[in-house]
Amino acid sequence: MVIPCIFLRIWGDYMSQINHEYINNYLVGLIPQHEDILKELEGYAEQHNTPIVTPDVAGLLKVMVKSVQAKKILEVGTAIGYSSILMGLSAGEDFSITTIEKDEDNAALAVQNIKKVGMEQNIKVLTGDASEVLDHIEGTFDMIFVDAAKGQYMDFFQKSIGKLKVGGIFICDNVLFRGMVAERSLLIRRKITIVKRLKKFLHYISNIDSLQTTIIPMGDGVSISCKLKEVVFDD
Ligand code: SAH
Ligand code: MG
Repeated sequence: MVIPCIFLRIWGDYMSQINHEYINNYLVGLIPQHEDILKELEGYAEQHNTPIVTPDVAGLLKVMVKSVQAKKILEVGTAIGYSSILMGLSAGEDFSITTIEKDEDNAALAVQNIKKVGMEQNIKVLTGDASEVLDHIEGTFDMIFVDAAKGQYMDFFQKSIGKLKVGGIFICDNVLFRGMVAERSLLIRRKITIVKRLKKFLHYISNIDSLQTTIIPMGDGVSISCKLKEVVFDD
């Protein structure tokens, strides 16, 4: 089977420290390629080194959106709108996605791409640092997807978990950070702070009784937490 080299390259960069190459190659070969705007955005992301979700994580998001029948989704880290559009396509009619992006150029591109697929009524892009923007977001969501600055995941969690309905799903991408979170020898010096914070975050979400969490060594690592009851913070 011919595996498109764009997929292999995206995977190869991130994933070789998490899964065996032959597993990645096999799995990516199973996933049907996108034929729509998503394919176009994958091409753009490849050219511009935009870190969109990998094909396996894209598949996971589709399954999650459909299985929890998510209609109201909050996303942190829009980039060019790839994952927003992907989730929108899975959500069916009458969905709404609020997505936050701090990079103005990315946000503008995302708005353009969202218009192109006619989802501008459904997907709202908020430009700004999610640490600030999250404080001003109202409403309750069925699903939250965090895919932004890894050192701030705890902060994003604290500022958004109260907006997730009980029974809703909280997903984070890149939580294994090229394997560095699990294995010291992979650690790059200048990433130590981010890795420490990620480890603390993963320990936290894995151990509080208001969440049921699983961490999947897929892509760059994905955490999935089901909110069982309201989360109470000590401080
Ligand atoms: N979810 C996207 C990819 C996001 S890439 C997709 O799969 O299609 C991560 C994005 O998060 C980048 O565009 C970056 O600018 C943005 N980001 C990083 N830190 C942020 C923050 N604190 N607030 C908002 N956006 C942030
Ligand atoms: Mg990511």
